Amino acid sequence: MRVGASPETEARRAAITLATLALRPSGSERNGILASVSDLSEIRDAARVFISERDWQQFQDPKSILLALVGEVGELAELLQWLPADGARDQLREEPLHTRVSEEMADVLVYLVGLADQCGVDLGSAALAKIKASADKYPTDQNRGVAPDKT
Ligand SMILES: [Mg+2]
Repeated sequence: MRVGASPETEARRAAITLATLALRPSGSERNGILASVSDLSEIRDAARVFISERDWQQFQDPKSILLALVGEVGELAELLQWLPADGARDQLREEPLHTRVSEEMADVLVYLVGLADQCGVDLGSAALAKIKASADKYPTDQNRGVAPDKT
């Protein structure tokens, strides 16, 4: 078990083996984390409504969204920058930091989903394809416990 991981989290992680992450059409899996991945369309649709209701489509271009995304990543990084590495996982589970980190992660996700929407990218499928490619690039028998290089 990983340090700081709950038994439920660890069991869920174990259930999601690379075999279960084999490429599927988007939205075809409706359990656990995979259902959450396919639910990116709900975030996209909610953001579209939010933007439309304010007539902000005119400001939605890939460059502007990317810059907003980078700004939100900076806000997230600011919350973590001085946490000691060996205690960060525990501190991030405590309030008020947990709520603040959740909010900034949500900002990052919403802008990333918006960027994917602008670019016509199926983000869930692209992410699963990337994980599959990484699994092929780093077979477990040669890479277990070894830090990866850039993917
Ligand atoms: Mg923010």
